[in-house]
Amino acid sequence: MSNTAFLISPNTKELLSQYKAFLEKHVYPIENEDIYGSFKSYLPKLKELRDLAKREKLFAPHLPKSDGGMGLSLVEFAGISEILGSSPLGHYIFNCQAPDIGNMELMHQFASKALKDKYLGPLQRGEIRSCFAMTEPAHAGSNPKHLSTLAIRDGDDYVINGHKWFTSSADGAAFTIVMAITDPQNPNPYQRASMILVPLDNPGYKLIRNIPIMGDVGEDYMSHGEVKFTDCRVHMSNLIGNEGQGFVLAQERLGPGRIHHCMRWIGICERAMDMMCKRAVSRELDPGKTLAMQQTIQNWIAESAASIKASRLMVMNTAHQIEQYGAKAAKEDISTIKFFVSDVLMTVLDRAIQVHGALGITDDTLLSFWYRHERGARIYDGPDEVHKSVLARSILKSYSKHE
Ligand SMILES: Cc1cc2nc3c(=O)[nH]c(=O)nc-3n(C[C@H](O)[C@H](O)[C@H](O)COP(=O)(O)OP(=O)(O)OC[C@H]3O[C@@H](n4cnc5c(N)ncnc54)[C@H](O)[C@@H]3O)c2cc1C
Repeated sequence: MSNTAFLISPNTKELLSQYKAFLEKHVYPIENEDIYGSFKSYLPKLKELRDLAKREKLFAPHLPKSDGGMGLSLVEFAGISEILGSSPLGHYIFNCQAPDIGNMELMHQFASKALKDKYLGPLQRGEIRSCFAMTEPAHAGSNPKHLSTLAIRDGDDYVINGHKWFTSSADGAAFTIVMAITDPQNPNPYQRASMILVPLDNPGYKLIRNIPIMGDVGEDYMSHGEVKFTDCRVHMSNLIGNEGQGFVLAQERLGPGRIHHCMRWIGICERAMDMMCKRAVSRELDPGKTLAMQQTIQNWIAESAASIKASRLMVMNTAHQIEQYGAKAAKEDISTIKFFVSDVLMTVLDRAIQVHGALGITDDTLLSFWYRHERGARIYDGPDEVHKSVLARSILKSYSKHE
């Protein structure tokens, strides 16, 4: 049983078992073939599973009740996110995958009714996908103030010009939310950018390529796009929130987003741990002498179990802090879980691969998929080093002579 079970209501416990049973019955048996094969060719099968999830009333668990969801708290959804993380397809099947979940949360709070009707509704129902274009190849993404993409007002339109990359899941998406500079002269650099929704059938938008990740180009949802906006004209009513509010909205988008990612990583750790233990007790070095009898392997298993439990407690506590006091007040905790859990993820995956020997680096198990695609965990949502600086500076504040 999870070491945070005391935080979960009996209703949510029942829900967690339903999600687990769904994954075991319908998703684990197909996931290897799907994620190492052509994602596009699996879309009909994935749609069938999404329809089944809808019939079983498990679809889009993160949505508020007013939008047809379950109205779960962040802590409750965090528990579900861990279970869904145990499969690379989990979040996708239930329509709570990044980057769509972040866009849904953002639009729910800040988009106009017209944008909600046209884009948010279909997104929540899983009829379309979206992406988020902020990072630029020419500038350090770690410093979000440093952007070149411009959205200049021309009559009732914005005209957007810029070059973005790592726009995850752009291939096949219906729209993107782009972060662009709308007020380059503003003396406050945090008030220069805005978020604008761009439909991707716009002639001024181009997907240049899906960027290969350690040899895997990917496609459709499982891809990271390099994209260009060239005199891309959209009506000013496509603005999300107010002009100049881009950074405020980005922070709003990232607070709960880090909880979702961290719990997904813990789900991956649990699955990798399960695979590691199964391999340890079945792989014989000599007849009757298994890997599990070796102390090094036992140390890896014990240390992994302890790190996973510590991670879960920290993330659940952070989710609770966000709910009680808001993302701003929980800033230190959010930074702490980001670098702590991504590091646990890397360590646990690496140990699981090592225990599998050569098998661990083949595509016969999920481990190599995760090792390749989750290495980014230490980079996206703010590189770990930036979060460590945030935490350390905050701790050191009280030691400063000038305080
Ligand atoms: C898998 C994946 C998915 C992504 N999806 C999206 C997406 O959907 N949309 C989007 O807009 N972007 C996305 N990104 C981009 C991501 O947000 C950026 O990669 C991230 O912000 C880092 O920016 P950068 O790559 O330009 O690295 P840089 O800013 O160039 O930093 C390089 C390295 O320098 C170090 N560093 C940086 N700052 C500091 C500091 N202050 N102190 C010490 N060391 C530091 C870190 O080690 C960092 O990794 C994604 C990235 C990945 C890997």
